[in-house]
Amino acid sequence: MSGASAARDAQLREGLRELYESVDRAVADAAPVCEISGRCCRFQEYGHRLYISRPEAEILLETGLPAETVIDDGLCPFQRERLCTARERRPLGCRIFFCDPNYTEQMETLSEQSIARLKQLHLEYEIDWEYGPLHEFLREYVAARASSGDIEDGTPPR
Ligand code: SF4
Repeated sequence: MSGASAARDAQLREGLRELYESVDRAVADAAPVCEISGRCCRFQEYGHRLYISRPEAEILLETGLPAETVIDDGLCPFQRERLCTARERRPLGCRIFFCDPNYTEQMETLSEQSIARLKQLHLEYEIDWEYGPLHEFLREYVAARASSGDIEDGTPPR
């Protein structure tokens, strides 16, 4: 990555962190109910998938994966005992999604607005838009760690 492109990347991430803060404020104002069932992060059980962008994946994986992670499409490896262990780094979808039926309309609006802002940041900093299921980014991360020699004995990376 060139110096200019690294600088743009850093600026986009800064914009994304600001977006996270503004989304957190909007969600706090909407005050959806969470019963801490943890089902929303157990995708197979809930029947949905989490889609994220590359910069969100990079922030989420800044400190690696939890110890002894086994990549499983049905759940998020960051959930432990029904709680998120990556709260500060979690992507937009995790910040916005709540299963409270009284919040559905606000959730859809907030989701559309935040994705639009994220796309705008990509345009502003001339960064390609890459968006896909969480597990594609997790697998790519594991493969990159393995090919860089960080994993020598088949142990999942941290
Ligand atoms: S990052 Fe956290 S909130 Fe998002 S799916 Fe994983 S455990 Fe759930």
